[in-house]
Amino acid sequence: LVVLRGVDKHFGTLHVLRSIDLTVHRGEVVVVVGPSGSGKSTLCRAINRLETVDAGEIVVDGRPLPAEGRELAALRADVGMVFQSFNLFAHKTVLGNVTLGQVKVRKKDRKEAEERARALLDRVGVASQADKYPAQLSGGQQQRVAIARALAMEPKVMLFDEPTSALDPEMINEVLEVMRQLARDGMTMVVVTHEMGFARSAAHRVVFMADGSIVEATTPEEFFTAPRSERAKDFLSKIL
Ligand code: ATP
Ligand code: MG
Repeated sequence: LVVLRGVDKHFGTLHVLRSIDLTVHRGEVVVVVGPSGSGKSTLCRAINRLETVDAGEIVVDGRPLPAEGRELAALRADVGMVFQSFNLFAHKTVLGNVTLGQVKVRKKDRKEAEERARALLDRVGVASQADKYPAQLSGGQQQRVAIARALAMEPKVMLFDEPTSALDPEMINEVLEVMRQLARDGMTMVVVTHEMGFARSAAHRVVFMADGSIVEATTPEEFFTAPRSERAKDFLSKIL
């Protein structure tokens, strides 16, 4: 569903993505791990074209990444993204946040969009917060709204970049549980996270990045019990 071939990216003299080859299949959950600065966020942002790349090809659902304009807006709607910071529209209610894109980008009528929004808010467990503003919600609730907002666009793939890193410990699990449910429902997902429990239990494949390269891409069992590279062994010894 998502194919990257020979993707390269520099920031000035810094080589942040080095000939990345990665295929994410429909329904697959790929968890991306690696040390800080290894290029995980840049990889996610490249898939959504929040970053341009210097070389290589990125194909989403059979279509090469469009450069701009209406096609790019459509691609962004196909590729849902959830960030560490919740990025909700502060001046809109929770319901408004989950309705807006459906009306503007997907051209749904408001009533239909609101019905779908309420159903999604129910699915992520915040239906009772629909009329509040983001600032009135806990971090975990805001992040679940952000997930509902992305899902409202009927994305083909969901990208998560450290969705629980900004959350207090007691809220991490409620967000991970929504993500686990999404995975069980068959959503194609790319998840950057330091939550190794989630990686173990929900990933079909773990991609380990270091210095802009994919060093290992394997099953969670193999990655956590028998990592091959010294870099991965070193990384795991520090975090487990
Ligand atoms: P973390 O675990 O800390 O989030 P990461 O693996 O997500 O790290 P990236 O954010 O992708 O790493 O960054 C990769 C490298 O690119 C880092 O060295 C970072 O400092 C650099 N970088 C990221 N964005 C920019 C930018 N806009 N301009 C210049 N350098 C950047
Ligand atoms: Mg990052």
